[in-house]
Amino acid sequence: AERPRDNFIYDIIDEDLEHGTYDGRVVTRFPPEPNGYLHIGHAKSIVLNFGIKHDYADRADTRCHLRFDDTNPDTESTEYVESIKEAVQWLGYDWEEHEYHASDYFEQFYQYAVTLIEQGDAYVDSLSEEEIREYRGTVDEPGTPSPYRDRSVEENLELFRKMRDGEFDDGEHVLRAKIDMSSPHMIMRDPLLFRIKHAHHYRRGDEWCIYPMYDYAHPLEDAIENITHSLCTLEFDNNRRVYDWVMEHCLDENELPSRPRQYEFNRLNLGYTVMSKTKLRHLIEEDLVGGWDDPRLPTISGLRRRGVPPSAIRSFCRTVGVTRSQSRVQIGHFEHALRDDLNAKAPRVMAVLDPLKVVATNVDADAVDWIDANHWPRDIDKDETRPVPFTREFYIERDDFREDPPEDFIRLAPGREVRLRHAYFFTCEEVVRDEDGVVTELRGTIDPETRDSTAPDGRSPEGTLHWVSAAHGLPFEARLYDRLFEVPDPDARDEHFTEFLNPDSLNVRQGVLEPAVRDLEADQRVQFERQGYFWPDPEASRPDALVYNQIVPLRDTWGE
Ligand code: ATP
Ligand code: MG
Ligand code: MG
Repeated sequence: AERPRDNFIYDIIDEDLEHGTYDGRVVTRFPPEPNGYLHIGHAKSIVLNFGIKHDYADRADTRCHLRFDDTNPDTESTEYVESIKEAVQWLGYDWEEHEYHASDYFEQFYQYAVTLIEQGDAYVDSLSEEEIREYRGTVDEPGTPSPYRDRSVEENLELFRKMRDGEFDDGEHVLRAKIDMSSPHMIMRDPLLFRIKHAHHYRRGDEWCIYPMYDYAHPLEDAIENITHSLCTLEFDNNRRVYDWVMEHCLDENELPSRPRQYEFNRLNLGYTVMSKTKLRHLIEEDLVGGWDDPRLPTISGLRRRGVPPSAIRSFCRTVGVTRSQSRVQIGHFEHALRDDLNAKAPRVMAVLDPLKVVATNVDADAVDWIDANHWPRDIDKDETRPVPFTREFYIERDDFREDPPEDFIRLAPGREVRLRHAYFFTCEEVVRDEDGVVTELRGTIDPETRDSTAPDGRSPEGTLHWVSAAHGLPFEARLYDRLFEVPDPDARDEHFTEFLNPDSLNVRQGVLEPAVRDLEADQRVQFERQGYFWPDPEASRPDALVYNQIVPLRDTWGE
């Protein structure tokens, strides 16, 4: 595979391979917490970590672990574990036998903590959560050591054992690293390693009532699994100090040369949507969207249901840039990758989403003219065709007709001639209205000499319209999706974020579709000419009641 664009991690790995830092091993991991479904931000991390496994396979001994970082009993579940595995697989990656659960390491986390206590590097603190915060001080002033900081090793060991044995309530004690209460880096002011939490864990049940903190558990997980390059997002920049401290104080010194290193890269942020699992879960629990696979969501399951191909997500993630500067990626960039991917995969068909009936008065009522129409435009090297029935009555988009057209309007108007895609030239001669003045039908004539879309006299109408036979068209529902939020940064609106939901994020249309779609695979992605890419909704569409999701419109409508 081609090397991804703009990716400094690859430079680091190149250098490590050159220097033989890890004896030719490159081991990465994707470490989700199973507390929700994955989103496209996670895809960036998946594509990065599994991409390294693939891209270096011919030069190094590569692996990528799927690790469930399940050290927090509150919000984790088997449902989420399963959904994460499904998403990684669907994206096209295989962790082989390397599935791990941090919750399998609880005993090791405990033992390493005992070692830290024995070394004098950790202590049991009995201050309250609030006191701990106060004692920690501020960036401008040093913290104050806890009065419990100088407990003896024996007392610490005994208290820590009792914490594990369930002799205390939540919050009564914590285990802290003994680092530096006046460090200019707040995170180094004796970070918490373990807390008491009497809660049921989805895998370990009630076996444990102390749980490790992220900053302590994560480096150990990496060390236990012999990870070489531990990649995380930029917010964890500061946490690297604790990461390195844990490595240096828990691991045997002669293991150090090959110890894992943490590198931080920019997270993927997209506008007009939310990407935190907590906020996504809120939308689902409050029924503000249809579920984790709602096609408007940036979740992998939502994108999948919408019709986004995994290859498009992969190529998008390989071009967004893995750098150390944070920025927002425009949705237009994602949609561009989508169109690029779908262009040569999606046969063209015609669908009218907002039908206006047209009658060609010089065509017999029972005549059916089957036209052999190409599924592909000229610039795509494919030549399948399909039969398209032309009949006296057909539909065009209501939008493609104006009674009083503005000057630059080149589509249909009274007295105008247009080309019907793959078929005849048609001239509008009469406009039929109902009693409210609404146009209900157009009448006119075709030029029978223009069946192949050209005229013997060489004239060429400016406008070309898509259309569908009224007699043969299939009624269907089209679901068009717009931005889920009205503001570019709903994530920044904290708990008020749902006030900014776009009430028109779902647009349902009753349209007509050319009959040849019946001959395509049930899950075939198609381009509705002049509209966009669509596919049948895998949940809602039935042979006798077709429902198509718009994957992406043909033109960029974001104006970012
Ligand atoms: P959330 O707040 O949505 O739960 P998280 O970062 O806590 O996100 P994790 O399950 O811990 O979710 O994430 C697993 C991996 O995916 C982590 O290594 C994390 O850095 C990465 N990741 C999460 N969100 C993004 C993002 N927007 N862009 C890139 N990587 C991300
Ligand atoms: Mg997390
Ligand atoms: Mg999080």
